[in-house]
Amino acid sequence: MLGGPLKRAQDITAKYLLELEPDRMLVYYRIRAGLPQKAEPYAGWDGGGRNLTGHIAGHYLSAVSLMYLATGDARFKQRADHVVRELQIVQEKHGDGYLSALEGGREAFAALSKGDIRSAAFDLNGLWSPWYTLHKTFAGLRDAHRHAGSQTALRVETKFATWAEGVLAPLDDAQIARMLNTEHGGMNEVLADLYADTGDRRWLDLSYRFEHHELTDALKRHQDNLNGKHGNCQIPKLIGSAARYAYVGDAGDLMAASFFWDRVTQHHSYATGGHGLAEYFGPPDVLGARVDGRACESCTTYNMLKLTRRLFSFRPDAFYADFQERAIFNHALASIDPESGRTSYMVPVGRGVQQEYQDMLRSFTCCVGTGMENHGLYGDGLYHESADTLWVNLFVPSSAQFTLGAVRLEMDTSFPEGDSATIRLALPTPKSFTLAVRRPSWAGDDFGIRVNGQSIDQPRIAALRAGPAGGRDVPIDRPAIQPSTYVNLRRTWKVGDTVEITFRKSVRLEPTLDRTTVTAIMWGPLALASDHGPRVEGRGETADGAATIPPPPPPVPVLVAAGRPLAEWLVPAGSRVGDFRATGVARVPSEPGICNGRHADTVLPDAWPPLQYLRRSHHAVGALGQRNGDRGRARARPSPRGSDVRLRAAGRCRPGPPIQLSERPGGSRPPAGGRPRKPSRHRMVLVRHAGRRLEQRCGHRDVPQ
Ligand SMILES: [Zn+2]
Repeated sequence: MLGGPLKRAQDITAKYLLELEPDRMLVYYRIRAGLPQKAEPYAGWDGGGRNLTGHIAGHYLSAVSLMYLATGDARFKQRADHVVRELQIVQEKHGDGYLSALEGGREAFAALSKGDIRSAAFDLNGLWSPWYTLHKTFAGLRDAHRHAGSQTALRVETKFATWAEGVLAPLDDAQIARMLNTEHGGMNEVLADLYADTGDRRWLDLSYRFEHHELTDALKRHQDNLNGKHGNCQIPKLIGSAARYAYVGDAGDLMAASFFWDRVTQHHSYATGGHGLAEYFGPPDVLGARVDGRACESCTTYNMLKLTRRLFSFRPDAFYADFQERAIFNHALASIDPESGRTSYMVPVGRGVQQEYQDMLRSFTCCVGTGMENHGLYGDGLYHESADTLWVNLFVPSSAQFTLGAVRLEMDTSFPEGDSATIRLALPTPKSFTLAVRRPSWAGDDFGIRVNGQSIDQPRIAALRAGPAGGRDVPIDRPAIQPSTYVNLRRTWKVGDTVEITFRKSVRLEPTLDRTTVTAIMWGPLALASDHGPRVEGRGETADGAATIPPPPPPVPVLVAAGRPLAEWLVPAGSRVGDFRATGVARVPSEPGICNGRHADTVLPDAWPPLQYLRRSHHAVGALGQRNGDRGRARARPSPRGSDVRLRAAGRCRPGPPIQLSERPGGSRPPAGGRPRKPSRHRMVLVRHAGRRLEQRCGHRDVPQ
């Protein structure tokens, strides 16, 4: 990447990774092995006791390896090598391949191996998701080997897998199934990857032992069994299925992974590409009733993007690239504060909701961990290549070196603000191949493409194909929105050839399937967020500094358009491209009772005055908004009747001063006794389906031969 907001987010993350001290994340690994302590440990979810202790070292090892791949900066390789060396020392001290920082880990796994299995959603023999935590260490070692060239990492990972194989060896299938009741990350994925990296079938077999049949068997039958399931517990298992399909071509794995992807993106995801309320899937197509709470965990979007890239490599369809664009620009990019560098646990959707920025030196939640990796991965999947095709998926200032024809491609664009992109090619000798340029559906017919100055006629988008749009389904009673396609430019390319692309981002409503009055306002692929003034800090923190649950939102305006076309009341707001003002349509509902207390745990949309208000209003629109940014804007009072609301794209990264990171004085305490915070009072919302049939068209396609 050569510039733009994604590059800036990558740069901020790179700086953060270099400011972290790896020895501090390795403290508990050393202590558990009986080695002397070399540093003060970090805390939060990486602290001692019954936490995800040790998960951050794994995330960090992945993150610096990915950042080395993205930047070529040797400092990241040095960091990766250091962590691998330290893990090797710990593993050698243990002597049997074991490698963990979990307190009581050895005892818990020994009991497990003897068939003593006490499992719940996040608890296995008294530990918090132990295989999930170990998966991070495995993944870090894999990434250090694959992306930072560490052979030591592969040796350590193989020994670690040998230990895991020994733990599972005495267990029968029923016992394994009981064990897999507890969150176990992507253990099937790392073991399939280890099989690919070593060629040893033992690891493929072990990958299948971690197969969670309760989930994947139903998915293979094309049954959506996601309602009530924890989002981030599931996605890594399907990344594992996709990995195995890549290595051994097991069609069942592809069936499960691709059906899961289709269901999540079309039936469980919001306009931002995020999904889940309070971390859990709801009933399919019930989204309008599931906003306004702690929606859209960042880990899940990180994992869906990994799955998306994998699936595109099996079937290069713009459908996947659409989701990639949507999820990157609206969720992943929006998850990092461009000024402070803090990343978010939730990037929620709803009225007056705000992001849950994390304390980057204290909280070390799961989303801080995936947040370390997220922004170093943007370069992955901008382009793809096969033996005769180069795909251009996203519009990002970037360059790429391909194997095909030794082509070097450079893209210049100011997207997402700008409306054009220019591609220049350099190659040693003329070469015939297809350059497949994504034609984004959100541009409609406002799309043009020229090769060396000559315009290439394009069919009207309506003539191309119907189907799920932008990675999401659209109601069948609305005018069809087309999914994106590719313009396949097949010719003999030579050095200096130039492709110019123009596209116009129009504004449109993207209502939820179940409640047309609950809608996102889109500008091209970008979901607009309403600006209700500065962020309000959370209602206190948990003792470990992990949770920054926002307070109940103040009354925020709803937009009552009364049938007026969007273009009439949503107008560009002054100097900044992409800022809009909703004029004359904002209404503030009566304040009392707007939110009855425990907002994070309970969603009772029907009891909310705004929706009652909406139902009385003809053609009313409830804008989904986010508080975005920490500072710098004057506090706005809720708008009086008919006044203006400012909106801007949620993921737009504004230039700001260099990030300042400081550790708060006084350290932090582990959570008081027992389990760290996980959703415990999750409550499903019963929703009428308003006469719509439950099962929408499914975008699942046949399995490639
Ligand atoms: Zn998370």
